[in-house]
Amino acid sequence: MDIHAIRHRLKLKKDAGHTELFENRDSVVCPACDKPFGDLLATEKREHSFRPTGLMRLCVVREDDRLLVFTHE
Ligand SMILES: [Zn+2]
Repeated sequence: MDIHAIRHRLKLKKDAGHTELFENRDSVVCPACDKPFGDLLATEKREHSFRPTGLMRLCVVREDDRLLVFTHE
């Protein structure tokens, strides 16, 4: 997924270097399920823990050097 290409449609909520959390501002669709996602977590770390708010669907996309996690309401 080319995050830079859709960067203007996302709001950066957290930036911890190798891990970024974005909020979807423009109904960008998730590459795993083709539905608009709520947040996108992108991490280059091998392990990372985060707590999504509430009960939601999580979609995961494994790239060569990055893991993407999408949340849905
Ligand atoms: Zn999805």
